[in-house]
Amino acid sequence: MQTITIGRNSDNNVPLNYPQISKYHAKITHLGQLSFKLEDLESSNGTFVNNQQVTRTTISPTDQIKFANISFDLHKYLHLFGLTGTQQQTPPQASQQAPPPSLDFTVDFEKLRNVYADYRAAQANIRKKEKMQNAALGLIGGLAALLGAVNLYFELMDKKILGMIVVPLMLLSVAGRFFIGSEKKLADLYDQFRAKYVCPKCKNHLGEYTYEALAARKVCGCKAIWVK
Ligand SMILES: [Zn+2]
Repeated sequence: MQTITIGRNSDNNVPLNYPQISKYHAKITHLGQLSFKLEDLESSNGTFVNNQQVTRTTISPTDQIKFANISFDLHKYLHLFGLTGTQQQTPPQASQQAPPPSLDFTVDFEKLRNVYADYRAAQANIRKKEKMQNAALGLIGGLAALLGAVNLYFELMDKKILGMIVVPLMLLSVAGRFFIGSEKKLADLYDQFRAKYVCPKCKNHLGEYTYEALAARKVCGCKAIWVK
């Protein structure tokens, strides 16, 4: 029911059989949740909310309502609106099925999403840099070889001078690859990842499985709950 009437006549939803109550004294309309509109129906002795006379106002069940001098406890009539006072106050039922707090690692597990994404991004970055540096070194080596070949053919330079130019370039091209150190960087990165990408409970490393693949598993062998 959306609206109830209160009054002395027996056909009201809430009949109040007192001489000071008008035949149709007031009506209350449910607005949603625990909010209601209270309207006085031009009663002889008035309607009061928290000791203030009102003709029309919004109320909640905690307000003190009086029709004339008769107190009215809205809590007792919530069932008329299809509401029950107790239902509103009980916490969600789901809490009884929730895992014991000791096994619920969903919050910590969620953080691994970024750990994995950051690792993959840093890895891709190192590889990209390595590729560019290798390309540059390859170019230097290529130039040195070309210079040598052209000179052999045209004998433009003294062989000694040529050697002083070409040999260091060739060396740089080959040796440079050892100084880029991508392998070391990748190994360090993996060590950091390995330390952080672990089950929040048993601390076992989770391998290189994607976060999504792990999330789909929902639980760890150690019984920790990753995803509910
Ligand atoms: Zn675990």
